[in-house]
Amino acid sequence: MLRLQAPLPDDYTLASPDALEARIAAAKESLGDRLLILGHHYQRDEVFKWADAVGDSFKLARFAADNHQATDIVFCGVHFMAESADVLTADHQRVILPDLNAGCSMADMADIDQVEEAWDEIAAITAIDRVVPITYMNSAAALKAFVGRHGGAVCTSSNARAVLTWALGHGDKVLFFPDQHLGRNTGFDMGYTDADMRVWDPRHDCGGLEEREVKDATLLLWKGHCSVHQRFRPEHVAAARAEHPGVKVIVHPECAHDVVEIADRVGSTERIQEWVAAAPAGAVLAVGTEIHMVQRLAREQADKTVFSLDPLICPCATMFRIDAPHLAWTLEELVAGRVVNRIVVGSDDAEWARVALQRMLDIT
Ligand code: SF4
Repeated sequence: MLRLQAPLPDDYTLASPDALEARIAAAKESLGDRLLILGHHYQRDEVFKWADAVGDSFKLARFAADNHQATDIVFCGVHFMAESADVLTADHQRVILPDLNAGCSMADMADIDQVEEAWDEIAAITAIDRVVPITYMNSAAALKAFVGRHGGAVCTSSNARAVLTWALGHGDKVLFFPDQHLGRNTGFDMGYTDADMRVWDPRHDCGGLEEREVKDATLLLWKGHCSVHQRFRPEHVAAARAEHPGVKVIVHPECAHDVVEIADRVGSTERIQEWVAAAPAGAVLAVGTEIHMVQRLAREQADKTVFSLDPLICPCATMFRIDAPHLAWTLEELVAGRVVNRIVVGSDDAEWARVALQRMLDIT
């Protein structure tokens, strides 16, 4: 999906880190309680340190909704997160994304036109009223609205099992998007096998499947993935164990199943944080998630050895777009009375996305 962020003025791009820090601090002070800066765990430190609240995307969106005094919510994360915050916050609250090019490559692997086309193709093969669509939180608001309209729900990496269990109590089949790995890992966790799961590839007619495969599958998994978490491989687990006997390997469920099945623990960013914090002093932990979060954990938990499962791991390229110059620009524009990069979800999509999110909350 193409989103255009105009280049920043030189005044920002050429400013020194110290100058930017002073400008952000001054703008933040000037905006006072009307400003709320939200920081996802994967943000770089120069941005993360300014956050009034940190966490995963759903937690941050709810935090914004619970803080009515804040009219300007600056979401240091990616586009779908800002959309979720706009869906959940009140009309007087404005959600701002400091760089419009901060999308999510996984979320962009399923767009609403492709999902509607897939739905029509599945409806031509099987009883569509027995198919429940489930979308991961990491998806556009239009997809959350789609599942809301069609009797489905949103899930997070923490509650995917509960949501899929609910879905299969209401239908015979689930169309799960956009992350095939979270869907597959959850399916295996629930006792399903490869034979019960098929990958729906939106670039091919009928998802690249035979009609019989669509009819027989319990879980149709959209062919999407997180470019960060898919990089972790079983070879990294083997290397960590060879180099650090006794190491505990902790990974995110967006990793591929061959990594998840040999890891010691699998959980969301919040669970990973808790596990690392709860590990005894001296523990050695190889963590399979975004590098900024791993490095921060290593600093905060200095009595343990915490390192990235992949020594060559890259940061999330889109999260990385939010930097001190964009944050300073966004805040100084607000001080000047101008709202830049506001993220607005249309009222119909917002209403149905709220339905899908509320179903998730009712289930879990
Ligand atoms: S880490 Fe993966 S899922 Fe998260 S924003 Fe980056 S690409 Fe998207």
